[in-house]
Order: sequence, then structure tokens, then C-alpha cells
Amino acid sequence: MGALRDPGRLLVAWEDAAGAPPVARGTVLVHRAGLVDDVDTALDLPIGAVASLAARLYAEEFGAVVSGILTCHSCEQRLDVELPMDSVVAASQDESVGAESAVALSGGRRLLVRAPTTRDLVAAGGSHDPARELLNRCVRAEDNAPVDADGLDDAALTLVDAAAEELAGSAAVVVRTACPSCGTEVAAPLDVAALLWDRVAYAAPAILAEVAELAAAFGWAEAEVLALTPVRRRTYLELARGGAR
Ligand SMILES: [Zn+2]
Repeated sequence: MGALRDPGRLLVAWEDAAGAPPVARGTVLVHRAGLVDDVDTALDLPIGAVASLAARLYAEEFGAVVSGILTCHSCEQRLDVELPMDSVVAASQDESVGAESAVALSGGRRLLVRAPTTRDLVAAGGSHDPARELLNRCVRAEDNAPVDADGLDDAALTLVDAAAEELAGSAAVVVRTACPSCGTEVAAPLDVAALLWDRVAYAAPAILAEVAELAAAFGWAEAEVLALTPVRRRTYLELARGGAR
């Protein structure tokens, strides 16, 4: 654990994730940090499981609590919110979070809904009708036959949506807080995998800037700078800046 604390590994993870579609970046990071051995396995995990792994990784690498700012939709006050990452991990251990659930429609018909995976989201993102694409990929009739989304009425679609949300678990984490000014409950969805990517995308250029500074000062190669322990890197940076003498 703590794999991304190694600057060389963080850079590899960052580069790899930057080249992936945005919805897959958190999944690539979870794989690159060693939480899932194989990238195909990671892409086929339910997104709730990915969010849970991303929350674990976030807590280990960047801190146990995420803070953010929400805006009250009633009085526009800005609210500071904090979300402990262990609550996100716990959300996926809820029994309702699984791989598949059966939805009973009126008339006795039953559909099987499975939790979307990162691969499903990537496919949906590349489709001209993302919601339809997800439905086609994740909903099956009881006999495993594909379901024509056009044949589902609004009531059926609502049931399918609710089932998909349950299955998503911590991928659908919602932060809730009461506005101290007007008392309105403010809620916002939180994408933990995206937050993880934000932190990595912020950290990587800072590492590269340090590499560039030390390479310019001492003529070292990138690999030599990345191999330095954090203490040595910091001390050499101070020397390069004319301090620590
Ligand atoms: Zn308010």
C-alpha cells in the first residue's frame, strides 16, 4: 500500500490514466496502484466496487477526509462539507450492493439488472444515446434475452433506475448537509474516482517540476531524481535553491 507515494509509480499511473477516457481514470489508477492486478478485471468491476477501492486508495495516499464546497440551492450560501473516506468504503459493503438484482414489473414480468462497470460507462460515453446504451448492456430478461428499451414504459424504467442505483453502492455517494443559514437540506453527488484523479493530476506536474529543477541544477537524469528518497530530494532541492548550507 502507499504505492502512489513512490513518485515514479505516481507518474506512470498519471500518464496511463490521462490517456484513458475520463470515466475510466479512477479505475486505471486503482489498477496502477496495485489494488487490482489486471486492468481488464478492473474495467469489469461494478463501479461501486471501483469507488470503494478508490476511496481506500485516496485515504491511504491523500488523507482520510475529503473536503469540498457545496452551494445552497435555496439561498446560495457556500457550505464547507467534509466526507470521511471510510464511509465511502463502507457504502459498498452494504448488503444491497451486489452484481445483479431482479426487478418485478407489473404483469409478472421480471428483468435482471446488473451493476454497470467502467467498461459499460466507457461504451455509454461513446454512444449517441448513453442512457439507452447502458440499459441495453445492463438489463436482461429473466431468460437472459436482450431487452428492447423501447418496450419499457416509464414505470418500468423508474424501477430499473432504482435497482441500478442500489447496485452502484458507493459509486453513487451523495453528500448531504443542512444549510446553516436557511435550513435547506443540500445534497450533491460525489465521484470519489474523479476526486482521486484530481489529486494525482495535481501531484504529477509538481513532481515533474522538481525533476526538472534538480536535472537542471545537477545534470541528473529523471530516473536518478525519482530514485532519491524524499529526504534527499528535499535537501537537494534546498541546495539547488541556495539554502541549507
Ligand atoms: Zn441556504
